[in-house]
Amino acid sequence: MDWSPHYPSFVDTESNVKPEADSLDAATTPTLDRQIAIADIGCGFGGLLFALAPKYPESLILGLEIRTSVTEYVEQKILAMRAQARNSNSKSALPKPEPNEDVKIPKTELDDDAKPAPTDLDLMLSGPVPGNFQNISVLRANTMKFLPNLFPASSLSKIFLCFPDPHFKTRKHKARIVSPGLVSEYAFVMKPGGVVYTITDVEDLHLWMTGAFRGSGGLFEEVPGDVWQEREGEEGLNGEGTEMGEKWEAEVRDDVRIMREETEEGKKVTRNGGQKFVGVWRRAADPPWP
Ligand code: SAM
Repeated sequence: MDWSPHYPSFVDTESNVKPEADSLDAATTPTLDRQIAIADIGCGFGGLLFALAPKYPESLILGLEIRTSVTEYVEQKILAMRAQARNSNSKSALPKPEPNEDVKIPKTELDDDAKPAPTDLDLMLSGPVPGNFQNISVLRANTMKFLPNLFPASSLSKIFLCFPDPHFKTRKHKARIVSPGLVSEYAFVMKPGGVVYTITDVEDLHLWMTGAFRGSGGLFEEVPGDVWQEREGEEGLNGEGTEMGEKWEAEVRDDVRIMREETEEGKKVTRNGGQKFVGVWRRAADPPWP
């Protein structure tokens, strides 16, 4: 997979001109200076991607979406956000943006009422944006079929599964993007210690997803609610300590807050006064592969 068109700012120019490259492919396929670390599976209109981008400017984040028109919308919005962020940063004494990059947010015919309001962009761009949205991208893909083709083993540190389609009818359950088989695939692409986040407003689906992760034969450990539930007065990432200690827990809490508040579906559920059911699952350090 050539990811360079997705993350042009992260192309590893040195390794791409290696004289000892012994095959045409190795010599001509550009590589990145790091692997994709975070996946948002079924990203929809990309609200989570745009919220995570400035929070993790050094991590590559990929949204995966099966609907072509929605993927195109997110793609265009990423290009527009990159251009706007560069322009807004340039106003605060950063290098001048290149000409012809004043891309406008595209107008689409999409009728999904979850489509984000343009004012979200204005808010996000009201100051300099770390990373200028260069670290996010989107790919049209059916993750149920192609996940292990996209990511190397043990490469992802986070997977978000936000408001997956519930497919209520029993005969449709096979289309759910969490199932015992897919949980093994999520484990395969995740780093030991990596975290899968799930959220839904459908309790039945939450129980189904919980069952799939609990039944994973030790591939995942449940991160209990008292770790990830919001703490009174805590603002963002201010925890201290070891990677697995308070700092890690504060990061998990902030990720949960973002997925509750920044996904388009999360906003819709808040507007409608619905409930949100969260699951947090940590990839075991030494999974008992069958
Ligand atoms: N995660 C977003 C949010 O929380 O706002 C969108 C949630 S929406 C209810 C579910 C999304 O998952 C839809 O955009 C749908 O097209 C996408 N989806 C469903 N099955 C998928 C699959 N197998 N691979 C990739 N995306 C999928």
